[in-house]
Amino acid sequence: MSEQQHRHKSGFETRAIHAGYEPDPVTGAVIPPIFATSTYKQDGVGGLRGGYEYSRSANPTRTALEGALAAVEDGERGFAFASGLAAEDTLIRSLLRPGDHLVIPDDAYGGTFRLVDKVAAPWGVDYDAVPVWDTEAVAAAIRPGRTRLVWVETPTNPLLNIGDIAALAALAHDAGALLVVDNTFASPYLQQPLTLGADIVVHSTTKYVGGHSDVVGGALVVRDLEIADRIAFHQNSIGGVADPFAAFLTHRGLKTLAVRMERHCDNAERVVAFLTAHPSVGEVIYPGLETHPGHETAQRQMRRFGGMVSFRVAGGERQALAVCARTEVFTLGESLGGVESLIEHPARMTHASVAGTDLEVPADLLRLSVGLETAGDLVADLERALDG
Ligand code: PLP
Repeated sequence: MSEQQHRHKSGFETRAIHAGYEPDPVTGAVIPPIFATSTYKQDGVGGLRGGYEYSRSANPTRTALEGALAAVEDGERGFAFASGLAAEDTLIRSLLRPGDHLVIPDDAYGGTFRLVDKVAAPWGVDYDAVPVWDTEAVAAAIRPGRTRLVWVETPTNPLLNIGDIAALAALAHDAGALLVVDNTFASPYLQQPLTLGADIVVHSTTKYVGGHSDVVGGALVVRDLEIADRIAFHQNSIGGVADPFAAFLTHRGLKTLAVRMERHCDNAERVVAFLTAHPSVGEVIYPGLETHPGHETAQRQMRRFGGMVSFRVAGGERQALAVCARTEVFTLGESLGGVESLIEHPARMTHASVAGTDLEVPADLLRLSVGLETAGDLVADLERALDG
């Protein structure tokens, strides 16, 4: 099947496994080799083989990953970066100029907020931070003629709020702006924002796409080729690209994304059912619960509801910290999306920098990245930790 067919006609799993790469014509290698080379022999001056001249501009291992990323997001072009934040920085510099305005989530990933607030704003870009689950608040924050980007995460971190991608895309487009969706928490398997009207997808591939907590990376995927050209120019000009080994690991992870996500969701559902019934647990926050305010929107735009679960501990902060200290299968740690389950206390860990601001998260909140261990072991671990 041709590359074009893989991209647009095959099922998700087939695209994840085959798009972006044909077995090597010389050796038949079924997996893209790690092309550990900085430069390429030219057949006479300007006589490039396959367009490769220098590995910041392009490297075959990265090209394979970029093709696969575009295919799984139903986009036209993908770009792989050294980290999620390198992808975001490149995007901001590709599409914004001093004097422009963007709208961001008021509960954006802290690093995204820092990038906008401490790097883009001093450069002359203005922003407003609003709740992305509240479409009217986003509409009110748009400044016609100045707002170039509406930037959302859905689900958000750690409160798992849901933004309505189709409604936000319509809103952004009416105002002449583009919609950016950070799809890190859902992964391309559970949600494909470009098919819902978004213009640009952002990923920290460090999370579910890589999936094994062994590589840091980022990605952008777009449909519009003019936007793609601007990103390609800035990717090469700024140079924050994925190196060949990181691209290899990320691509290897992507091939199993579908089966991993199904099990992440199965295990998360088991954990949610257990937590909901436990007397020491207050609110359980999971978009799959009918009580979640974004449940209907999530049901419309996500295949399933993901592996991230947050919950409040009835005994307050002290008890929440004690639960973190007692789990054994859930490892205490930041990040998410790997095969191993993680637990963290957002108020003192991932979200410590927003303490005392409007973005402060409750002190009794715990966040779980539910991994792929045996579901019964995960539930037993939480039971032990909660019962002390
Ligand atoms: N976006 C989200 C939603 C994230 O959770 C993260 C990292 O945690 C990032 C972006 C930044 O990605 P990276 O850490 O790969 O730079």
